[in-house]
Amino acid sequence: MKEKGLLIVLSGPSGVGKGTVRQAVFSRPDAKFEYSISMTTRKPRQGEIDGIDYFFKSREEFERLIAAGKLLEHAEYVGNYYGTPVDYVKQTLDSGKDVFLEIEVQGAKQVREKIPEGLFIFLMPPSLDELESRIVGRGTESVELIHNRMDAARREIELMSLYDYIVENDNVDLAVDRINAIVQAEHLRSERI
Ligand code: 5GP
Repeated sequence: MKEKGLLIVLSGPSGVGKGTVRQAVFSRPDAKFEYSISMTTRKPRQGEIDGIDYFFKSREEFERLIAAGKLLEHAEYVGNYYGTPVDYVKQTLDSGKDVFLEIEVQGAKQVREKIPEGLFIFLMPPSLDELESRIVGRGTESVELIHNRMDAARREIELMSLYDYIVENDNVDLAVDRINAIVQAEHLRSERI
């Protein structure tokens, strides 16, 4: 029987640079993961494309997907739903490929309960001040949203102990090197078992 793929979950507070690190992971020529595109009810930001960055859904559509059991996990984050399509993840893992999720911490907690053998990596900001200046610098959020995101970030950092690895995002290239090294080590370890 074909060996199942590894589920890699990258999480951490919003603004820590998960999106940037994930893009850098996938821009490496030797990247071997499949990215699971999430569903969200958030409105697209400028330049975001439906089916590439997210599957953009109405609240009604999203709630139908929850009710139909189509999501591996979902969370309401700063007023919007986000969730991971379960069929895509399961089929891709069954085909032997590694799947990479980039999700917030409530969702990561649900995935840990359903797929405990996954590899859970927490991306850590060098400091909370640094995190706030990154969210402000992005220039896409209102002052109120920035406060909400910082509150969420403080709560998220408290959940760090649920993870297998903590990777500091002091430098994007270094963070990607660390993630790739962790995944490689995990593959070698599972070959030995
Ligand atoms: P943003 O609105 O900045 O794209 O994303 C907000 C937060 O939602 C980020 O922390 C991002 O990682 C997270 N997120 C994106 N997709 C999912 C998902 O499918 N499930 C969960 N739980 N969080 C997600």
